[in-house]
Amino acid sequence: MHSFQYSRAKAVDDAIDLLKVDNEAKVISGGMSLLPAMKLRLAAPSALVDVTRIENMKGIAVDAAGVIRIGAATTHFTVNQSEILRARLPSLSDLAGGIGDVQVRYRGTIGGSLANNDPAADYPSAALALDATIITDRRRIKADDFFRGLFETALEPNELIIAVEFPIPRRSVYLKFPNMASRFAIAGVYLARFDKRVRLAVTGAMASVARLTDYEQALERDFSVSAIETLTIPDSACNNDVHASSGYRAHLVGVLAKRAVLACVE
Ligand SMILES: Cc1cc2nc3c(=O)[nH]c(=O)nc-3n(C[C@H](O)[C@H](O)[C@H](O)COP(=O)(O)OP(=O)(O)OC[C@H]3O[C@@H](n4cnc5c(N)ncnc54)[C@H](O)[C@@H]3O)c2cc1C
Repeated sequence: MHSFQYSRAKAVDDAIDLLKVDNEAKVISGGMSLLPAMKLRLAAPSALVDVTRIENMKGIAVDAAGVIRIGAATTHFTVNQSEILRARLPSLSDLAGGIGDVQVRYRGTIGGSLANNDPAADYPSAALALDATIITDRRRIKADDFFRGLFETALEPNELIIAVEFPIPRRSVYLKFPNMASRFAIAGVYLARFDKRVRLAVTGAMASVARLTDYEQALERDFSVSAIETLTIPDSACNNDVHASSGYRAHLVGVLAKRAVLACVE
């Protein structure tokens, strides 16, 4: 690995100032994606600004309107263990408990995962299905506008995610078929059932996380497995790699979507 400067920010303003000093500086949170990328020389920042000690970027709270706010530097382990989430949004704590292994969950953070937007990551599907808002140092971004494609987001250079806000649906579930080595999703489906709306997001199967709007509309009319029985996604829309063929991934999405509906029937 090439040499780089390392600084630990104490506050959001401190992190912003440190990032401004060097055009090639990058935020580091859990380091679970960035450090492997640096070791492989896919990334070569000249400076790293560590945000994991910024207190108001950590923790989980619920406001008076029932919206859950999770600090960007909150680890997957903390999300998995959260009593607030277990009581109000168990699908999200379950998702966090299925990420990687215990070492990854202790270090990796929700903000890092969203910023990275790996096509097989779990959190992007939660943000999209739950209609989350990503809060940065300069604006609020709806999840629908945040994910732009393979490892691409709406974040501008050095824009820092501070927190993520999740509305609470009536019912929700995340189901994934994991890669047995990494636990990244071969395919994963996050289904959220709100009072009037249904949102369904898929990860792992395609080039980037995406909502399946035809499934959503069918489920809004009739929330049942039979409503989506005939729906499919084309094999050509799915990833084809050493882990699974595109046809297999397309099939998995259909199976997981039906299981998700069964899990959310009231
Ligand atoms: C062995 C292994 C298995 C894994 N399995 C899974 C899995 O099953 N499911 C899954 O979803 N993920 C998995 N991951 C990825 C893991 O969840 C990472 O923790 C996550 O993708 C990145 O989070 P991080 O905090 O480590 O971010 P980092 O690696 O520190 O950063 C990643 C990127 O995000 C940027 N960034 C970080 N924080 C912020 C912020 N607050 N604002 C703006 N930009 C920021 C960084 O600059 C960098 O570009 C796995 C990783 C490993 C190593």
